[in-house]
Amino acid sequence: MSQNGLFDLSGRTAAIIGGGSGIGEAVALGAARQGAAVIVLDLNGEAARAVAARIGGQAGASALDVRGRSAVRDALDRIARDRGRLDIVVCTAGINVRKPILKYSEDEFDGVVAVNLKGSFNVLQAAGRLMTAQRGGSIVIFSSIRSQVVEPGQSVYAMTKAGIVQLVRAGAAEFGPFGVRVNAIGPGVVETPLTAPIQANAEWYAAYADKSALKRWARVDEMVGPTLFLVSDAASYVTGTILFADGGWTAADGRFTPPGM
Ligand code: NAD
Repeated sequence: MSQNGLFDLSGRTAAIIGGGSGIGEAVALGAARQGAAVIVLDLNGEAARAVAARIGGQAGASALDVRGRSAVRDALDRIARDRGRLDIVVCTAGINVRKPILKYSEDEFDGVVAVNLKGSFNVLQAAGRLMTAQRGGSIVIFSSIRSQVVEPGQSVYAMTKAGIVQLVRAGAAEFGPFGVRVNAIGPGVVETPLTAPIQANAEWYAAYADKSALKRWARVDEMVGPTLFLVSDAASYVTGTILFADGGWTAADGRFTPPGM
């Protein structure tokens, strides 16, 4: 068995979309440590290039907006052409506008849906086309605990993250016969730029820490293991699932600990 065993990614090419920041950046660095040739793609091309520079070696980077279907297809096709094949695609690109339903503008709605839902579909379609043709590959798209449970202000974000769960299941069903696996990760609360406004509010930060069974937020590197598990041979029979990396957030309702417990 190779040095990293079931989790070895050497000889594989991985595109990490949203890899310029937060969870995607950590996953890009982690996949490279496991031996993958990593290409970092992000709306922020400069950030993507900075992550690729930190990886060094055979890493590449370019700007990509997941909202454009042909741009996504061209970017992934180019990687497959340049590198011979594309084995792994992880998409963490996502945005949130936290706002009450009654105050949500049409532009805000369209903006969140375009990145989270249409963007995820574009990635699944482009990666699926390549991987079914080469008869193998693994796709991971980032959902959220908000696919299952909500709080005020999460309407559109939650709806897109629930949509990703069904999208992943549909991808697994259609691509499975070709040896292509499709899964989702459902993070809890992770310290990244996306959640900076919450981290800056001490009461909000503490309430979120208290909600999970582990009584704390996740560090960004704690999303790397679950993601690399899903893209590696360790998960060779895992497809169509959502893996919650949420510190027990969705397991416990957290309202009250009965006396004596
Ligand atoms: P982040 O904001 O740190 O990183 C997201 C990256 O996506 C950024 O680099 C951004 O430039 C890129 N991006 C945004 N729009 C894009 C577009 N149109 N095309 C290409 N790239 C685009 O966020 P994060 O916290 O790392 O979140 C990553 C994923 O995890 C998201 O899908 C998010 O919804 C999900 N998630 C995060 C948390 C959390 O607590 N941080 C919790 C649950 C789910």
